[in-house]
Formats: sequence, structure tokens, C-alpha cells
Amino acid sequence: QGDSADYDSEVESVCPFCGVGCQVSLKVKNGKIKYVEGINGPANEGRLCVKGRFGFDYVHHEHRLTKPLVRREGAPKGLNVDPGNWQEVFREATWDEAMDLAAGGLARLRDDRGTTVAGFGSAKCTNEEAYLFQKLIRQGFGHNNVDHCTRLCHASSVAALMENVGSGAVTATFNQIEHSDVAIVIGCNPVENHPVAATYFKQFTKRGGKLIVMDPRGVGLRRFATHMLQFKPGADVSMLNAIMHTIVEEGLYDQQYIDAFTENWEAEKEHLKQFPPEKMEALCGIPAETLRQVARDFAGAKAAMIFWGMGISQHIHGTDNSRCLISLALMCGQVGRPGAGLHPLRGQNNVQGASDAGLIPMFLPDYQPVGDDGVRSAFTEVWKSGDFSAEKGLTVTEILDAVHAGDIKGMYILGENPAMSDPDVEHARDALAKLEHLVVQDIFLTETANYADVILPASGFAEKSGTVTNTNRQVQMGRPALAPPGEAREDWAITVDLAQRLGLDWHYDSPADVFAEMALNMKSLSNITWDRLERENAVTYPSLSPQDPGQAIVFGDGFPRADGRARFTPASVIPPDDLPDADYPMVLTTGRQLEHWHTGSMTRRSKVLDAVEPEANCSLHPSTLRQLGVEPGGMVRLTTKRGSIDVMARADRAVAPDMVFLPFAYVEAAANILTNPALDPYGKIPEFKYSAVRVEKAGVV
Ligand code: SF4
Repeated sequence: QGDSADYDSEVESVCPFCGVGCQVSLKVKNGKIKYVEGINGPANEGRLCVKGRFGFDYVHHEHRLTKPLVRREGAPKGLNVDPGNWQEVFREATWDEAMDLAAGGLARLRDDRGTTVAGFGSAKCTNEEAYLFQKLIRQGFGHNNVDHCTRLCHASSVAALMENVGSGAVTATFNQIEHSDVAIVIGCNPVENHPVAATYFKQFTKRGGKLIVMDPRGVGLRRFATHMLQFKPGADVSMLNAIMHTIVEEGLYDQQYIDAFTENWEAEKEHLKQFPPEKMEALCGIPAETLRQVARDFAGAKAAMIFWGMGISQHIHGTDNSRCLISLALMCGQVGRPGAGLHPLRGQNNVQGASDAGLIPMFLPDYQPVGDDGVRSAFTEVWKSGDFSAEKGLTVTEILDAVHAGDIKGMYILGENPAMSDPDVEHARDALAKLEHLVVQDIFLTETANYADVILPASGFAEKSGTVTNTNRQVQMGRPALAPPGEAREDWAITVDLAQRLGLDWHYDSPADVFAEMALNMKSLSNITWDRLERENAVTYPSLSPQDPGQAIVFGDGFPRADGRARFTPASVIPPDDLPDADYPMVLTTGRQLEHWHTGSMTRRSKVLDAVEPEANCSLHPSTLRQLGVEPGGMVRLTTKRGSIDVMARADRAVAPDMVFLPFAYVEAAANILTNPALDPYGKIPEFKYSAVRVEKAGVV
């Protein structure tokens, strides 16, 4: 930190990493970001974590793409390109040549072979870029085969929320915990993955709030917890149903709230009879008396919130897990008041906004169904175009399966890295290699760009204008502090150029134009204008007037469902898909670490973050390491039915003896070589959190 003499200019923007959406001030000197400070945004009040404070320098990394690249004739596709030495596989091209090749290849597939082009957009891009991307696929190719990484993180939470509450976003901001007296944090590790949100959770306990932490790993918040329930992986439904059973059996539910605001209560009540804690304790590994005490504490709260993460959503029963959490809140009347609410902690900085902007195969912007003729015609009227398919499109993993089946032949991928992020990633990589035409738009030569025919150099967060929406429904203004390096361009401008070369009559002068078009068909943006965001930096949706900063709490007077009532949807116990056996006796779970973000393309190119956490690693219980004859820091081999990797092992008492935790940021030990692609039937999200695995000392023949 320093004074104004330390920098030439300062620009207010938003941290590019997690869904907390901390506002930052970028201090720039001689065309480079010198340092970053937190400012007084609604979600962070000046706070930043290590990523936000020190993880900015990737934008200056020597690997940045500065010119368009095209694949050399006959160069093989695969993970064979050194980002610092790509010349054997790619050659530089002018923008004109690269865009003609990119658009020409996609147009040929469209015109000769029908609907064989699909798109992955990005939750790292702005709302305007997400909106343009889904519009390009729908208007330009006539179908809805467009998706993004929400499919890999909270799709099942959104499915359950849409079904039972009528809206996929949080009902209360996480900051509302200051008005709570009880909070459940389940299936997430905010200390590492939403660190600034975690500071609010810790403050809540300091002033006497009861924190109930539930996770198969003993995550960082356990030190602050009144109850730490380290349950068996995959046993969420049995544990949550046992807690709700107690609330019913002991008459602790809020009958007045249930009568006024919900439906299907009798069916839920009947269903829960099968789940007494005494019967469930063996299944979930939590003593019946603890389950009962947690039930009493939650039901006795004046105001309670439930926070959850991908430990809930990334299961084949992820939608059922979320249904249980929704039912628990509803039966206790814990929605729609200060300090009460449901809050899935969103992962990426703009995964909420990208989903709101329609970057999903079943919904147009604002979750308006693609199958509704009136909805489609409202959009085509604004777009001045013909109709497009009423059929839901394919999701992320389904698109890659369709490539294998020969039904998808070309893709446009913006800012996503499926060659690292998808389950059973060798299957995903094979699909990328099979594509006849792949256009990748990114800031680095990512693992996915290794498979591209054309690579379009794009802009990092500090180089672009645009809005992003955080986990709290706060739409925030991102501003450019730097010009993109070399010939790199802002993503929205590249997508517009591509659309024009695909024959679409698109004219936008700036992201502000795009935002204005979005607002025409997105009620969530009522009273939120570009100018207002320029002035105020952030507005929470819904905003009820041009002066209203937005509603931190929603659904106090009913739900956006047909009859205004939320619904109880009973959930039964479904075991994980890939259960341990004699060959694969342990459970593998994957996730993130504090210092690294997702597939590592940004944070592993940040000096400070990479210095703190430079090496691929996994965590095992000390007793497990002893049994294997491996010292902490030694190498282990992890093998599942999909493949095998060697990785350094750390001793960690927070991991149960029959589990291994593996971060997915490291290409040299790619976690997703091991993960199971089995899907939740509703959210179509893969079961990243549970695979049967064999763990051995590496190098032993
Ligand atoms: Fe960035 Fe999230 Fe850290 Fe805030 S908590 S500084 S948004 S990574």
C-alpha cells in the first residue's frame, strides 16, 4: 500500500475471482497494476482476501495472448503446446484473417450440416458478454446449445430453487447474517473459497451466533462452530431428513408460516416419518442426539440462514440435497425476513450474472423458458430476427458427448477450459480433438486452446468495461484500468465482430448499448441503468425505484410461483454413483484451495499466489499416510475407474481416514482425469464430489 505518489491513476472495479464480488481500487503506474486495495463495496466493505489483493499480476504475464493465432496445417491436436513456445503448432494471423477463418468454419458447418455448432460462454466474462454470446448461438445457429460452468457448480441448486421457490438466486445477501442468531454452512469451505464472506461468518460467531457447520471435511470454519457435523460423504439427504424428522416429531415447525406461504407440507411431513435420527445415524455418521440438538437449535432460531456450496450441488443427488435445505428453511419460516434466508454461495465472479443473462440451454435471460413462444417472440422482436428452436439445448457434458456421437462438429468457446474442468477429462479432451472446427477466445493459451483451430486474444478483467453480478444479486460496474496487451481486444467486441461475419445485423458501440438491450427483456434489471451503475458502482436486484439500492431480502410476502407459495419437495436417499469396493476402497473428493482459482490459468500465473502454493497436492489423514508408508510431502498414486495420477500428499486431520481431497487447479496432476461424469438428472451436474479411488504409494511396482 502507499500514497498517491505511488501510482499514476486509480480505477474502481471488481475482483475477478470469486462470487463474493469484492470491489477493488486498481493502482496503476507506468501501464501496470502496482497494487490493489479493497474499497467500500456492499459485499466487502474494504476487505479483500489474498487472491483479490495479490492475484492481479497475471494480466501482465508473458504468456498473455497478444495476436490471433491459427493452427498450422496438419499440426496435431492435443496437450502438446508450451504456452511460451507455441510456434510449431500455431502461427500468428491478422485479426481479419483469423476472424474470417473463425466465422467461415462455423458458418460452413451451420450451412452445410445444420445445427452442429455449440458454444460455451464464460462466468468470467461480463453480463454484456454473456448476453451477446447466448444471443449469437441462438440467433446465429437457431438452437439453444449454449452453456457455461454453472453446469459444473450450482446447476442443481438452481434447479431446486426454481422448482420450489420460483427463483434461482439467493433470497438474502450473505451480509444478512449480521441479523441472524443461527446459521448453517453446509458443503462449502468459505474460509478458502469465499474468504471475505467467511469474515462475516466469523464475526457472527463472535457476537454469539450459533454456527452449524456440516461437511465431510473438517473445513476451516469448524473452529468457530457450535456444532461441527463431519458427516459421511454423499449422506446429505439422510442427515438433513433426520434433522427435519426431529423438527416434525417435536412439533418445532412454524405452522403459521407453512399455512400462509407453502404447499405440499402434508406430503413432506409424511415422507419424513421414514428418517428418525436413530435410524439415520449409521448412514450419515452423525450421532442421533447431535442431529436432534441441531434440529432444536435451528428450529428455535429467531432468524436463521442456510449457506451451501458445491459439496451440496456436485452430486447425482445434488438437486435433492438442495430440496432438503429449502424444505428445512420453509418449515421453520426462515425465508424473507432480516437474518433469514437461503444462500447458495456462487463460485465464479459472474456465474450469477452469466446465468441471469441466459447463458444456459433451457432459459433465455431472466430464466424465461425457451419453450415459451411468447418469450421467444419478445426476444426475436428486440433482436429483429426470425424464431429459433423451442427445444432446450444440450448442457456442457451433453455437448461433449454429442461431439463424440458426431452430432456436434464445431464449437465457439469463450473463456472456459473444459480440457481441465470437465469430469472424466480425457473424454472431454478427446471430444475437443474430434471437433472439425474449434474457435477459442481467451487471454492465455489454455489447455482447451491447445485443441483450437483459431485462437482469439481477449481481455482480462482490468482491461474491460462491463457489469458483473455477485452471489448477493449485486450488479456491479467493472472498469478498465489498462489497455489490452498487443492486439488483444475486449470480448464483447470480438463476439460482435464474429456475429457480423456470420451474417447477423449487429450494431453496438459499447457494453452500455448491450446493457440497454438486456434491460428491455430482463425485469431483474428494472431501475438499474448503466449510468446509475457508473455513479453508484453497485445496485442489488430487484431494485424497486431509481433511488432504491435494491432488496437485500426477497420473498417476505410470497414467492414468484403461480400461486405465490413455495413448495416442499420430499427427497429420498440415493447413494452416490461410484461406490467404493475392494479395488477402489476410498472416496475421492475435489475442490479449490485459497490461493488457486479453478483450472489455475490465472492464479498459477500470479507470482505471489504461485509462490505460496506452487505444487499439485492432495490431502490425506495422517493415519492413512502412515498405513501407506508415505511421509507427508511424499508422492501417492490415485486411481479411479477413469484414470490415474501421481501427486504430492499432505497430512491433514480435517480429511477423514477413508477420504482424499484433491484440488483441481493443476494440469500436471489433473483431478478431473479421475472424476465421475455421472449426472444429477435435474441439474445435469456431474458428481465431482464423490468417486471411489485407490490410493497407493507412488513409484511402487
Ligand atoms: Fe476476490 Fe472473492 Fe477474495 Fe473477495 S473474497 S477478494 S471477490 S477472491
